[in-house]
Amino acid sequence: MLPQISFVIPLYNESEVLPQLVERLNKLIDSQPMPIEVVLIDDGSRDNTAELIQQLSLTDKRYHGVLLARNYGHQMALTAGLAVARGTEAIMVLDGDLQDPPELLPDFYAKYKEGYDVVYAVRKKRKEGFFKKMAYHVFYRILRSISYIDIPLDSGDFSLISRRVVDVLNKMPEESRYIRGMRTWIGFKQIGLEYERAGRAAGDSKYSIKKLFKLAYNGIFNFSEFPVKFITNMGVFSILMSLLYLVYTLIQKFFYHNVPQGFTTLIIAIVLFSGVQLISLGVIGEYVLRIFFQVKGRPLFIVRKEIVESEIVEQKS
Ligand code: UDP
Ligand code: MG
Repeated sequence: MLPQISFVIPLYNESEVLPQLVERLNKLIDSQPMPIEVVLIDDGSRDNTAELIQQLSLTDKRYHGVLLARNYGHQMALTAGLAVARGTEAIMVLDGDLQDPPELLPDFYAKYKEGYDVVYAVRKKRKEGFFKKMAYHVFYRILRSISYIDIPLDSGDFSLISRRVVDVLNKMPEESRYIRGMRTWIGFKQIGLEYERAGRAAGDSKYSIKKLFKLAYNGIFNFSEFPVKFITNMGVFSILMSLLYLVYTLIQKFFYHNVPQGFTTLIIAIVLFSGVQLISLGVIGEYVLRIFFQVKGRPLFIVRKEIVESEIVEQKS
């Protein structure tokens, strides 16, 4: 029998947390009426996470292990998990360090039953350092203000995603993946549920500063045209400034006669041509953007419902 719900949990060097995670998952699964599977992805761990996953998957058929060939990073590990998850109704994505409590499944599932395709968790409180909290806070607000989709604030990958949305995700071949953005981009009815984000159950964060920045860049460059538009706007701005300056120096020259020879032309030429160059870069940028969006190979649109001959056809994917 196929599971109705799949958990998808990427793990990188999490052997310290894994026993606790499994204990809490088992307890939860036993309390639920529907069949549930747990997909554990080993993202090329250096400790014995992979061995633990293998043992577990061999002895307990609710567990499904996927061992990746090397460390590809959290987003790719998630992608791998979503690709193999068999849950017919929905897939629950969470971190392996118990910062995202699996016990929220019934609440999320209730929303799914109300007709939401994506139920994402919104962090009310974070038990993390001041600097990290600030950085997250600022980043999400910047991203939201410059993005062309309405990325919800303070929500990560922790979410329950319906089968048809996961099917679309699996069909989006883009290589640099920002899954919380892709999930938002797809559409359908989405809703946020607040929760308190716990501290890590054990071990240290597996997201290095480098990996965090990579994720942040993917968020900005994959879901915003702002950087390119910014170049063009800078160009327009410098041309306007140079024209203003032109007027000013012409007045100085003809009415007050106090401008040294050649100076005016020089400054105006520099500012004007910087502007022209910036605009040219922006124009090239516009073409690059279009190529960028084309090569992503995303589906152009996703149909929610189709009504043919007075009959409603719900789209599976
Ligand atoms: N993770 C992963 N591959 C990586 C880094 C992290 O699969 O290269 C997993 C990690 O094991 C955890 C989840 O991604 O289950 C979130 O990572 P972490 O808790 O370290 O990030 P933080 O909560 O500190 O942002
Ligand atoms: Mg964590």
